[in-house]
Amino acid sequence: MSGPNDDLLLAYLDTLFTKRIHSTFADDYKFTAANIWLLDFVNRTENMSSIKEELLDAGLDITFTCPSCGDVIEAEVQDTCFDWTNDSLSDGISSVITDIGCPHCDREYGVEVVAKPGEKDVNVLRHPHTEVKFRDNTFD
Ligand SMILES: [Zn+2]
Repeated sequence: MSGPNDDLLLAYLDTLFTKRIHSTFADDYKFTAANIWLLDFVNRTENMSSIKEELLDAGLDITFTCPSCGDVIEAEVQDTCFDWTNDSLSDGISSVITDIGCPHCDREYGVEVVAKPGEKDVNVLRHPHTEVKFRDNTFD
């Protein structure tokens, strides 16, 4: 920095900086900041668990093309989670089947959600070539 206003500028910055340091380290400020942080942390923790519960309650949104009439079926099926508490990985695999009817042709399909270690599979039973679109929430 150079120029005729250096001194003024430095004085200004100095005031600003000193003020900030002073208020930052004031006991009141520290106390309030700690409180805010704690409240925020507690709120976020509570939100996280309720979001997780909502996700499991809400099930899994899926989309697939009806193998019978070709219409797009949007549905919500029961969701499941891989059980990491099991000793054997293959024993932890969990699956759940929900019956979904096509709103267009009324055909019924069994939609199976399989929770494997690290990913989920969604299959339309007896229609192995039907691709099911869904958002894998394994790591949510
Ligand atoms: Zn259909």
